Amino acid sequence: MPARPVKAAPAYDYIVIGAGSAGCVLANRLSEDPGVRVLLLEAGPRDWHPFIHMPAGLAKLVNRKGVNWNYDTAAEPHLDGRTLWWPRGKVLGGSSSINAMCYIRGVPGDYDDWAAGGATGWSWDDVLPYFRRSEGNTRGSDALHGADGPLSVSDLRHVNPLSHAFIEAASQAGYPRNDDFNGAAQQGVGLYQVTQRDGARCSSAAAYLAPARQRPNLTIVTGALARRITIEHGRATGVIYTARGTAFHQPAAREVLLCGGAINSPQLLMLSGIGAADDLQAHGIAVVHDAPGVGANLQDHLDICTLWHSTQRVTYDRISDLKIAFDYYLRCRRGAGSSNIAEAGGFVRSRLAPDDRADIQFHFVPAMLDDHGRHRLEGDGYTLHACFLRPRSRGRIALASARPDDKPRIEANYLSDAEGFDLKMMIECAKVSRDILAQSAFDAYRGTPIFPARDDLDDAGLAAFVRTKAESVYHPVGTCRMGNDDASVVDPQLRVRGVEGLRVVDASVMPALPGGNTNAPTIMIAERAADLIRGMAAR
Ligand SMILES: Cc1cc2nc3c(=O)[nH]c(=O)nc-3n(C[C@H](O)[C@H](O)[C@H](O)COP(=O)(O)OP(=O)(O)OC[C@H]3O[C@@H](n4cnc5c(N)ncnc54)[C@H](O)[C@@H]3O)c2cc1C
Repeated sequence: MPARPVKAAPAYDYIVIGAGSAGCVLANRLSEDPGVRVLLLEAGPRDWHPFIHMPAGLAKLVNRKGVNWNYDTAAEPHLDGRTLWWPRGKVLGGSSSINAMCYIRGVPGDYDDWAAGGATGWSWDDVLPYFRRSEGNTRGSDALHGADGPLSVSDLRHVNPLSHAFIEAASQAGYPRNDDFNGAAQQGVGLYQVTQRDGARCSSAAAYLAPARQRPNLTIVTGALARRITIEHGRATGVIYTARGTAFHQPAAREVLLCGGAINSPQLLMLSGIGAADDLQAHGIAVVHDAPGVGANLQDHLDICTLWHSTQRVTYDRISDLKIAFDYYLRCRRGAGSSNIAEAGGFVRSRLAPDDRADIQFHFVPAMLDDHGRHRLEGDGYTLHACFLRPRSRGRIALASARPDDKPRIEANYLSDAEGFDLKMMIECAKVSRDILAQSAFDAYRGTPIFPARDDLDDAGLAAFVRTKAESVYHPVGTCRMGNDDASVVDPQLRVRGVEGLRVVDASVMPALPGGNTNAPTIMIAERAADLIRGMAAR
């Protein structure tokens, strides 16, 4: 389909590709200046669906194809050749419209490591002001928290008794209670604070796009798939995209800002001629800039779930009970409908931890979550998710074809590190989970074990359990790595090396996973990027 030049349209200063966690922030911050014209392109639809806004609706969003890219990894060599499901938001708000809303930043050492590794300007002291600027915490502001930012952060309005049992059991197992994982200390167990406002999901679209939507200098086009970034004489000049069956070529006067996320951003760079020259040529793509780092350095939190049947019918497993909860929610935005399902959790420093940081994160779910909830089990139960926070294995995103409509190839390469440390940590995750679930706080609920089917497995048995059951906990990052070395994809200003007028701003620029969930860190990155673009950042 030939691209139609968009001559009559205004010459936008910035084209933002992808209205996800990061893209919505940029669209808002850049269009604060009425003299700047911004075009925001989003491949997915508007975020009209009620299950996006009602927090517990996330359980129902799992299989909604219309708002999800529904990726699968390639066969994973160290996970018995299984392909793992990678949901990603394809809708205004991106993955923040389908995520579990846990508000977590990681710890200062994560960002100090970024800076020490070459991401100058991204140390904890540098990024804390941007976490605070984005945050609208209902508990108020202090040295670590913001209360006036667009991203609403709240305490849960509804907590299942099993979530309280988890916190009690973890305390019995020796882990301290922590009421603020983003406070002075991360370690301990407790309830998550969630990205919600008045009991509704506060996605990046709700936080940042809704207040900016009416600005005359911001245009949002949904159903618009960016197919290629046009590059002339080493400078990004615009974007070719399709919308409503028509191809458009939209020029950008200042910059193209790529916010497609950790899978799509490297794919679009490669489709635009920026990637490993050999790989591009193999797909018949003209090489603009030979950048082998594009798509490399893929990291994700692998997660192992321990499931038990519950003897009490208090879980979120029953659809009929949920319907009652939803009806109640619609009336007053309270009750189980306002739950993010993963209500409780925590951060634990295992006996294998190499430093003083927590290396295991828990998400406790008062329901049976097998295969992300896609496989329904009989009865009632509860699930303890545990993931290793700083995996050493690295994978990559590669092109499967030169067609923008085709999914790229995801080689997560979990558990591939030469020392086998990631597998050891996953076994440790399963052991600590078993220990917590065995505490007396669960006596009133504990039925029979589901996964693993026996609760006395040795290390070899647990390794087999991990290989057959571990799944993603949805935090891919690192595929357009930021750094000050030539092999990095973007520099610390997030400018793509080798091409002028093009930045990547999303989870893909993270040099390494932070110790926790990745939505708040991505929003922080975009807040700081907005200042870098506007020339307002401290350095
Ligand atoms: C099921 C799930 C649960 C999660 N739970 C949590 C949680 O509880 N807490 C937390 O902190 N994090 C969580 N995360 C992770 C977090 O949401 C992501 O890390 C974060 O949203 C990533 O932001 P991003 O801007 O990099 O990408 P995204 O938010 O995925 O945004 C990318 C956007 O770009 C669009 N796009 C891509 N390619 C194109 C193209 N070619 N043309 C036009 N548009 C395009 C996409 O449709 C999408 O809207 C979860 C994620 C998932 C999927």
